[in-house]
Amino acid sequence: MTTIGNNLQHVQSRIARACAAAGRPADAVALLAVSKTFGPEAVRDAALAGQCAFGENYIQEAVEKMAVVADMQLPRPLQWHCIGPIQSNKTRLVAEHFDWAHTVDRLKIAQRLSEQRPAHLPPLMVCLQVNVDGGPTKSGVAPGEALALAEAVARLPRLVLRGIMSIPDDAPDFEAQRALHHRAAAVFDQIKASGVAGLEQFDTLSLGMTGDLEAAVAAGSTLVRVGSGIFGARSYARAG
Ligand SMILES: *Cc1c(COP(=O)(O)O)cnc(C)c1O
Repeated sequence: MTTIGNNLQHVQSRIARACAAAGRPADAVALLAVSKTFGPEAVRDAALAGQCAFGENYIQEAVEKMAVVADMQLPRPLQWHCIGPIQSNKTRLVAEHFDWAHTVDRLKIAQRLSEQRPAHLPPLMVCLQVNVDGGPTKSGVAPGEALALAEAVARLPRLVLRGIMSIPDDAPDFEAQRALHHRAAAVFDQIKASGVAGLEQFDTLSLGMTGDLEAAVAAGSTLVRVGSGIFGARSYARAG
């Protein structure tokens, strides 16, 4: 088996152990393979090992990679998730090429994604990025403003609001990590319980990366985004 295949198995068993420890079913948490900075061959290796959902941060890099991967005749279609910041001038590329966008934190971006989603594609699945540590320069809607944004985004015709995403700052240990992830989970629960229209498919808590996936699963994550744990250390010189 390839190194990537072995790494995928290792990450899947970490997820399974974390689910067991949290008393959650083994299939409660899905894996997003974060392939940013890695080439199409890495995506192919992971796909041949059974992985179908991939996360990318750099939109131009991702779109070029998708075109190469599309010619590889893989056994099943892949799903592409945008997990990087989305500037206004990149919304069209996201709307035309991705299946999911995790980083919606402003209504203006959501409106553009909805307007630009091509008619022949299914609606774009979106998560709201929430800034749970309050760093003013960080991306993400403030927790106190998330419900109002959810209400507005849920009304947009070509988007489906699927959940919440967060990237907390590094924390020193498991308990500190879990406490931060809990803040995102609380926002998720608040929106879910709000009775806002258009939340029929609000089921995704995108939390946790290679270094903190156990704490994220303990806090209720349903989708962990793992890059280096699958593909190895990144060299940013390759990022587009
Ligand atoms: C890069 C990245 C990841 C993956 O990080 P690893 O530590 O390599 O697992 C997950 N989520 C986001 C938003 C990222 O930018």
